Amino acid sequence: MAKPSKGRVLVVEDEPSQMEILSYNLSADGYDVAKAFSGEEGLLILEEQEVDLVLLDWMLPETSGLEVCRQIKRGKATKSIPVIMLTARGEEDDKIRGLDTGADDYVVKPYSVKELLARVRASLRKVGGDKGVDVLRYEDLEIDLSRHVATLFGKALNLGPLELKMLCVFAASPARVYSREQLLERVWDDNLDVETRTVDVHVGRLRKHLNAAGGGDYIRTVRGIGYALDRI
Ligand code: CA
Repeated sequence: MAKPSKGRVLVVEDEPSQMEILSYNLSADGYDVAKAFSGEEGLLILEEQEVDLVLLDWMLPETSGLEVCRQIKRGKATKSIPVIMLTARGEEDDKIRGLDTGADDYVVKPYSVKELLARVRASLRKVGGDKGVDVLRYEDLEIDLSRHVATLFGKALNLGPLELKMLCVFAASPARVYSREQLLERVWDDNLDVETRTVDVHVGRLRKHLNAAGGGDYIRTVRGIGYALDRI
């Protein structure tokens, strides 16, 4: 009997060779794949089919990936579908703009297939599409979501609830840069009484806990933009 699908992924990519690699690897990893070679085709598929996640190329002819992303995030029926943008190296500004338009994550080309599949899994997990996964891992860091325990090198970190929640947000998309506003939205559920400075305070606390456990800095500060769980 065929294994049940892990979900349906729409790939929007105009280059046939890229499409081939993506669809082959996604299928091999257990996903159903819908293919669109243009933004227009992608939006049409979204109107007609159930899709769990969109892999969206940044550089598309006619309607750009950016515009497709905007339309997905504006559509009532489609706005909760996670979108992972595929961008070329050096499009740093583009990446940030991509996230501003509501893209949930991005992967830089040339990407490793392993990394890409990890991002797909992480994005689906966030919306509950990949059930049964309740441990997030990043290098030597492990978060047991059912027990609400984070460990580094096997030792429990004594985190406060906000720090733990923040770490979960970071660990679900390692290396993704979150702005203070995005952290406010995700960790404090958009509580208007909380100032962005508070975010810095809690990031500082989290960083202190992680550093105290040894192994160097896990939180990267991206000046003028925000923070990421990124060991570089
Ligand atoms: Ca392209």
